[in-house]
Amino acid sequence: MDLTGIGMTSMRTRERLISRLQQRGIKDEAVLEVMRNTPRHIFLDEALAHRAYEDSALPIGHNQTLSQPYIVAKMTELLVADGRPNKVLEVGTGSGYQSAVLAQLVDEVYSVERIRPLQQKARQRTQALKLYNIRFRHADGGLGWSEHGPFDAILSAAAPETVPEELTNQLAVGGRLVMPVGGDAQQLILIKRTAEGLEQDIVEPVNFVPLLSGTVG
Ligand code: SAH
Repeated sequence: MDLTGIGMTSMRTRERLISRLQQRGIKDEAVLEVMRNTPRHIFLDEALAHRAYEDSALPIGHNQTLSQPYIVAKMTELLVADGRPNKVLEVGTGSGYQSAVLAQLVDEVYSVERIRPLQQKARQRTQALKLYNIRFRHADGGLGWSEHGPFDAILSAAAPETVPEELTNQLAVGGRLVMPVGGDAQQLILIKRTAEGLEQDIVEPVNFVPLLSGTVG
């Protein structure tokens, strides 16, 4: 894996992406710093690596996409806004880029992916970056990962029609869940579990791949 390839040589290209994130309203310095230092090009196939620092979603095979940097930054910022969560559940590992960003901000990341070849590549990539605080699992993430719950934060990169109860059930008191919800018209939502129950806020319209049940591979 080329850790010193195309993206490394062009700090200017990366810096432009960070400016763009700031223009779009990302303020958390720790999130911006992690994204500045995380090579996004290693999470893509070589043929697409030259587009890694554009603010766009890019294909990773199996009909899936690496999320747009703005949305990775936004979701991460929402998750850490109340202080750093220790234990985070990620549903939909995909390329592993979001997992890598989270792993540099929290203690432990538990990441579930239903497509095995994607999960295997994500593991190799994050290990190449020496991020050893991510546990991967090949399973249906809509069911959460109850053995390790409750989680201080939950993030999903795939959109269900409605929020799965299995996920809110695995959210600790004081915890935050960020995920896209809906079919054709999706919204990014933020759910907080307080001592009294669940509070939900709508953040903004988004466009994610659907949360599918079962596993592949
Ligand atoms: N943040 C990832 C986004 C990947 S796209 C990245 O930046 O690369 C969303 C991922 O969710 C896809 O890889 C898809 O296979 C996965 N997914 C969809 N439904 C799922 C489910 N029920 N459980 C686990 N993963 C799921």
